[in-house]
Amino acid sequence: MTSTQLPDSHDVEAMATDGALPVRNPRTGRVDYLIHPPDPAEIAEFCAGLRKAQPAWTAAGIGHRAAVLRRWADAIEANAKAIGDAETVDTGRSRVSHEVPYMVAASIRGWCDAAPAILERARLHGVSSTSATVRYDTEFDPYPLLGVISPWNHPFLLSTLDAVPALLAGCAVIVKPSEVAPRFVEPVAAGIAEVPDLAAVLHFVTGGPDTGRSIVEEVDALCFTGSVSTGRALAQTCARRFIPAFLELGGKDAAIVTASADLRQAAAAVLKGAVHNTGQVCFATERVYVDRSVHDAFVEELTGQARRLELNHPDVDRGHIGPFILGRQADIVDAHLADALARGAVLHCGGRSETLDGGRYMRATVLTGVDHDMKIMREETFGPVVPVQAYDDIDEAVRLANDSDYGLSAAVFAGDEDEARAIGRRVNAGAVSLMDTSLTIAIMRDVEKTSYNLSGLGGSRMGPNGMLRFLRRKALLTRTGPVPDMDSLREDAS
Ligand code: NAD
Repeated sequence: MTSTQLPDSHDVEAMATDGALPVRNPRTGRVDYLIHPPDPAEIAEFCAGLRKAQPAWTAAGIGHRAAVLRRWADAIEANAKAIGDAETVDTGRSRVSHEVPYMVAASIRGWCDAAPAILERARLHGVSSTSATVRYDTEFDPYPLLGVISPWNHPFLLSTLDAVPALLAGCAVIVKPSEVAPRFVEPVAAGIAEVPDLAAVLHFVTGGPDTGRSIVEEVDALCFTGSVSTGRALAQTCARRFIPAFLELGGKDAAIVTASADLRQAAAAVLKGAVHNTGQVCFATERVYVDRSVHDAFVEELTGQARRLELNHPDVDRGHIGPFILGRQADIVDAHLADALARGAVLHCGGRSETLDGGRYMRATVLTGVDHDMKIMREETFGPVVPVQAYDDIDEAVRLANDSDYGLSAAVFAGDEDEARAIGRRVNAGAVSLMDTSLTIAIMRDVEKTSYNLSGLGGSRMGPNGMLRFLRRKALLTRTGPVPDMDSLREDAS
């Protein structure tokens, strides 16, 4: 048994024995679920089974792998309600949770469509540019076993983002989602079991940091999505083990709004980017820089739009803003807000978190009078807060946007696309949305991007590299003419 649904009244302390981990319901604040993580020996056993199945998975070819993954996409859609219901409890948000299974299924089918051409383009054949009798051919050799460790903010989506292209590349994959939001694993595992060829090479486990640590000791490559501090620790383990680590970490996205921008559109986009999913998104808009000449008008528009947003309490199927998934996150956001207000920031709407029926909620919160001495402008907040700072010229806006430990993504709003593009080129971030926020999600298989600074390491998870990074390239080199003998290498040979 890997999980237990707890009855209404229970003694968590008594039940959480033998290493079981309690899972809190974000809408009630109650622990109502337990997971039972495997021990290191069990993880080693799972990994051995995956390794055993992987050579046949690779040998079967891309056509077979894509056909199997398409069957998984069908199974996900067939189980979409159960997955969505479970993720709704995990996250306290209903609409996105019920859309995610369809997004994942579409993403699987998209990768299946794209994969053969990606492989074909990367497979190089030719004659050496320095030696006319040497021919080369590329062979691909997948890392046999990939570990995926994912965070709580998008439980199902982020546990599959790297796993799907890795499976198509020919890897076997072990996935460990966050212990904060693990309920979706049961219905997802049921769907995997319906596709036996896939079940042999894809395994989900539930557990916390200890389980993650055990996995990193077993695998041949790691994809980690989560915080900078955990990413740094895992990168060190991977360096010791000499295996590649692909890290997708935190963000502190900036948005720049120029004097020529459409302020109503810019405010709507900034609000969506900052508040969607309660701000619990790596590429959430967390800082806004506005030309001083339109600052007050922008803030008035933004505040008017923000005031209209409703919490999804008491009805999970209504409103815009759900509870904090992780109760502790509300304390972090409150602390950032308190720090800003103590240093002179001005609150226009929203404010500190409130507890409703045990869930921790925060209304859309707009702040002005902020600066880079405040945590709210420097550290990842991960809450529905929009701090707005005025700038005097575009050089100052770019300097402020680039004054960050992070560099995941950013946004620019200007009077026209050319003006926005010219500014976007100067911002140090892996993806810059122009005339909207958070467009990164739209380019999953299309375009590669590199995270700047502490936001990531190890190459793009997007575009063709999202799949090719799981393949070791082997060059097969053929001498097509006579072998040069040692006489041709004599010191005095002409
Ligand atoms: P986290 O680092 O606390 O945990 C992430 C995962 O790592 C969890 O599964 C956790 O159990 C595991 N883990 C924790 N310590 C570990 C250890 N020592 N060894 C092995 N595994 C360990 O992150 P979180 O709080 O779950 O997620 C929020 C963070 O994720 C934010 O910083 C957010 O920006 C980031 N994030 C980044 C992206 C991206 O694509 N760049 C996407 C979503 C979230």
